[in-house]
Amino acid sequence: MSNSISYEKRPDLHSVQMNNGLTSVFISVIAIAASILAKNDLQRKIAVWFASHDQGSFGLGLVGFDVSELPWNQDNFDEQKHFILQVIDSTKGQMGWEILDYEPHKEWIFTSLENFRILIEAFEIQDRCNQISEIWGYVSEPKMFILCPKHNVYEHDGGCVLCND
Ligand SMILES: [Zn+2]
Repeated sequence: MSNSISYEKRPDLHSVQMNNGLTSVFISVIAIAASILAKNDLQRKIAVWFASHDQGSFGLGLVGFDVSELPWNQDNFDEQKHFILQVIDSTKGQMGWEILDYEPHKEWIFTSLENFRILIEAFEIQDRCNQISEIWGYVSEPKMFILCPKHNVYEHDGGCVLCND
């Protein structure tokens, strides 16, 4: 089983395909960097959104997404895109990886991050999803933000993605 990250409106761009194990690592390391870098609630919301793609809570092979389903906000789009690109780049720089109790397979994770970066870089605001139930399909939209005391990652409704792994 596997998960994919797509940009449906741009079929010319390749989806990111990851097996379940790689997906868990991908979501964990992105959630770590996003939680460290988030400076405001809009950015914390993005950190929770990534963390909510939690196979430990919601099932293996069920957490793929389309980049249109990120919690994009028309007025803050440029800032959000910049933030996510910064998160991806910092993840490639192994930001916060010392919290992991395993060693990620760097070549696989870097390839996934590079392909994900292409989708985010290309994303245009008019393609965003307007269905709140699709954007927040796994957990409710966060109203407050709780950091896991063990991992310093923002928790979703079902807890911490690293604790659940
Ligand atoms: Zn945790």
